[in-house]
Amino acid sequence: MTTHGEAAHDLVLLAWNDLVGLTRGRGVPLEALDERSRKGINWAKAGQALTPFDDIADNPWGPVGEAHMTPDLDTQVLVPDPDGGAPLSFVLCDGLEADGSPWDCCTRGFLRDALQRLEAETGLRLRAATELEFALNGIPLRGTPPFSLGAFQAGGAFGRAAIAALVQAGVEPETFEPEFGTSQFEICCAPTEGLAAADRIVVMRETIREVARRHGLHASLSPLTALGVPGNGAHLHFSFLDAEGRPATHDPAGHGGLSATAAAFAAGVVAHMPALCAITAPAPVSYKRIGPHHWSSGYACLGGSNREAGLRIVEPRRHSGDAEATGLHLEYRPIDSTCSPYLALGMLVHAGLRGIRDGLAPPPLVGRDPDDLSPQEREAQGIVALPGSLEAALEALEADTAAAGWLPPRLREVFVAVKRKELEMTAGLGEPELLAKYANAY
Ligand code: GLU
Ligand code: MG
Repeated sequence: MTTHGEAAHDLVLLAWNDLVGLTRGRGVPLEALDERSRKGINWAKAGQALTPFDDIADNPWGPVGEAHMTPDLDTQVLVPDPDGGAPLSFVLCDGLEADGSPWDCCTRGFLRDALQRLEAETGLRLRAATELEFALNGIPLRGTPPFSLGAFQAGGAFGRAAIAALVQAGVEPETFEPEFGTSQFEICCAPTEGLAAADRIVVMRETIREVARRHGLHASLSPLTALGVPGNGAHLHFSFLDAEGRPATHDPAGHGGLSATAAAFAAGVVAHMPALCAITAPAPVSYKRIGPHHWSSGYACLGGSNREAGLRIVEPRRHSGDAEATGLHLEYRPIDSTCSPYLALGMLVHAGLRGIRDGLAPPPLVGRDPDDLSPQEREAQGIVALPGSLEAALEALEADTAAAGWLPPRLREVFVAVKRKELEMTAGLGEPELLAKYANAY
């Protein structure tokens, strides 16, 4: 429906999620989609140096160089607006060179390559899911208690519409719930394999924002949207299938119930976690969320069912029989919705693969808040604090030559340049201004 009764033409956005975790793209008439899936659409490579704001970082391309953004039709999303407004219509693209080879700065290509390496070296396939927390601004909550039926009801119209939209988007939503903060909600979706799992995170983010827009609300997934409120995490849950497609994460006799490979993978993730933070919690505002005592995680360590640990083993319901069916898996917590899900999952896979390759010993299981241990106790268990700022995270990435080397050199160069530009652009801001700036962008 259009407001003036004129004809409307169906459009689809050829979209990609970039280094700063934002979905950008170019719209084409829907009937051109098939042809576009063969020939793609041009995009200036320099666009990969965009910050989340109205500026761009210095980059190797300037005005020269085209990426060929090529839609993967399996990712098409079409969510009609029940009120007759514009549908949410997009399809995710791979960034290719003119000869059809992968562009080294395509985030989706980076994850695809990491997953192929994992499978080639270990036979393992990764499954993953996310739980997205967000602030829903605009609903009248009037002090409803955290997690309460009242808060659930207050968000109810949005929640029902969001679940319906996610089903239409093919995303298998599992839960909608009020979170700890006033106006804070959370949506979880079912796990799926590797690349599709990262695609699903993009679709979830955009669908949540779109449904809020349709309801005259504003959903912000920024890690912290206001002073003194709980942060918004985007915890990543993951598990493995072996070459025969059998669950490969659980061994009742293993360390914390993990299979030997899952334990070695966990060891790699914990060992590289400070560097990974530069990719998984990549905004200045990310470090307003991360830190002890907020269940957002403050330390690189492995915890059995411990929400203060950077990596948590999520336990199944033991009495229900098959532990795999009930989902013993791992959860990576220092991650938020300012990240590229492709870079985040890709780096996680590289870190885990390093753990498997080098047979790293599983980290000790931390059974309490690691911040309550003495510095000596932490040191004895090899528990290190996560970076306290984006600067520190970027330094940790630089210092961890293995982790830095997993990123293709040009992608790393541009990513770091964008992040340094972001730091420069926000350097003079007071805390409320910083939070507001990111709340609007994400
Ligand atoms: N909001 C917390 C975070 O920032 C997570 C709370 C939870 O465990 O769901 O990560
Ligand atoms: Mg939560």
